[in-house]
Amino acid sequence: MLPFKLIYHPRYDLNLGAHVFPSQKYRMIHDKLLEEGIAGAEDFVAPERAPDQDVLRVHSQDYVRKLKTGTLGYTEELRLEVPYSKELVQAVWLAAGGSTLAGQRALVDGWAVNIGGGFHHACPDHGEGFCVIHDVGVAIRRLQSDRAIENALVVDTDVHQGNGTAEIFGGDGTVYTLSLHQEHNYPYPKSHSTVDVNLPDGMGDEDYLAILEKSLHRAFQDFSPGILFYVAGADPYREDQLGGLKLTIEGLARRDALVCEYARRHRVPLVATLAGGYARRVEDTVRIHVGTIVAARDAALASKPAVTRATN
Ligand SMILES: [Zn+2]
Repeated sequence: MLPFKLIYHPRYDLNLGAHVFPSQKYRMIHDKLLEEGIAGAEDFVAPERAPDQDVLRVHSQDYVRKLKTGTLGYTEELRLEVPYSKELVQAVWLAAGGSTLAGQRALVDGWAVNIGGGFHHACPDHGEGFCVIHDVGVAIRRLQSDRAIENALVVDTDVHQGNGTAEIFGGDGTVYTLSLHQEHNYPYPKSHSTVDVNLPDGMGDEDYLAILEKSLHRAFQDFSPGILFYVAGADPYREDQLGGLKLTIEGLARRDALVCEYARRHRVPLVATLAGGYARRVEDTVRIHVGTIVAARDAALASKPAVTRATN
């Protein structure tokens, strides 16, 4: 049994078939966690769809109406890069509800993982790059509206810049956004996060981890977050089809451990969302995402008193 909840819904899977976005990965991660005994059935909690009121704190009324009525224009639909369907709308509303629930659970348990979400390219008035609704944005705005948190830190290690996150929270001093991404990659142009780290093509584990550590150190020096949302993309992996960095699976696990260690050390509740992952073998993407959950588990167990640990 895990020391925190995993938020998951079977309808996160969009059944996209041969699409480069492997939405079957959510189900595969769920199954693998059970198969390997990392999680039990009792560790999973199913989210509800986010209320429209929550989505509307981030997205424009016009965009939400178009999504719900199937009236996006041709170029708007094209920009999503995933086929529009009622199932897609349902799945992204569920993912936003999932990240919100994960935020609420993390404030109680210290940790939570949404086995979905991380749709960091979604902007207030449009979706792009497989991202329709910005689940992390919806979650942070809901938690702020409930006065459950005052401020939040978003750490985004997806290989692509979190331009939607930057657009949503730009100029808002209550949300510190840190994005580490490959410079010569989508999106073009990039938006401005609180801190953007543009990485050169082909960067490997050691250089990457040193820069991440420095960036986390600076973020925690400059800011005292009430919660950390970790956008843990699997696509800095060297076998990724849409990424140009060269991290190994072990390097990605060390990356996850480092982010979790900063949250633990500073006693900041952490929510992990999965974000991108387009490895040639979908099994690698699944393994990297499972690694994120294992890193959160290890950090959560390390933050408990030793006597509790011994009885588990
Ligand atoms: Zn990505």
